[in-house]
Amino acid sequence: MTGPAEADSPLEWKLFIRRRASATQGVPPGKDDLKWVANTATLIYGRTDALLVDAFLSDAQTAELADWIAATGKRLSTIYITHAHPDHFFGLKLLRDRFPGARAIAAPQVVDAMRTALAPESVENWRRRFPGLVPASLVPAERLEGNEFDLEGNRIVVVDIGHTDTDNTTCLHVPLIGLVIAGDAIYNGTHPYLAESDGQGLLDWLDAIDKIEALKPQAVVVGHGPLDPDNSPRHIRESAATYRTSCASTQKRRRRASSTIGCSPSIPTASIPDRSGAAPMQPRRRGERRRHGESVRYEVVEVWRSEIGAR
Ligand SMILES: [Zn+2]
Repeated sequence: MTGPAEADSPLEWKLFIRRRASATQGVPPGKDDLKWVANTATLIYGRTDALLVDAFLSDAQTAELADWIAATGKRLSTIYITHAHPDHFFGLKLLRDRFPGARAIAAPQVVDAMRTALAPESVENWRRRFPGLVPASLVPAERLEGNEFDLEGNRIVVVDIGHTDTDNTTCLHVPLIGLVIAGDAIYNGTHPYLAESDGQGLLDWLDAIDKIEALKPQAVVVGHGPLDPDNSPRHIRESAATYRTSCASTQKRRRRASSTIGCSPSIPTASIPDRSGAAPMQPRRRGERRRHGESVRYEVVEVWRSEIGAR
């Protein structure tokens, strides 16, 4: 789909979205949608040049993405990666081979996190979870110094948003056209990946959402959403509401994970929207944290393990 192209705007954008297997498999009947997740790649382009934001996991989908970019007739000058989860950058090597003139960049903290993700034991773990989908050759992006670059002279701004569904994440802001590529900070109709967010992680994630909202975007692209997204900014607030009222974290070392529900006194505690059918949500522990000088109550609950399957 194509973004709103204003008459004189020198920049336009469109999305390439493909569904892949999620790490959540072996689900009960009626929960099949948990087995799949869609990944989004964004192409922002001017008269001749293009910028790709985020890549895919597998060679097969990356090849499709590369063909789609080539078919636009634009020169791919830059590939920007929002965060270091492998489903957003493992396709980088193939893209670099297909577009040798493009520089692949990310914020320094994202590049550091990519290097961690590229450690042999980490890659092996991904190969086990996604058999046949992890490319043979993997590379990180290059470090972008500073928080801006340009596309045909138009400012592209990197926004450091800290912890969202993992540590050290960024979003990309294109002020000229009011566009934010949110990476995995914002979700749309897709169960968020919660395995790296404990109670504090949820609160940090809410701070990241505040930062994105402060940009006042006209359109927001999410990393994981439906195949035909509306890219509405309303998903910013909807994501915040989900995290406030839903499960937020797992304690990774426990076989049966626990999750944190963050809730302010005015917001009722709720289970995960749409996907809570199999989840027993009995609170095991209650507590209180401070956020923006406000007290936020939370509850730790047991959840059905598949609910927190990796994205
Ligand atoms: Zn992701």
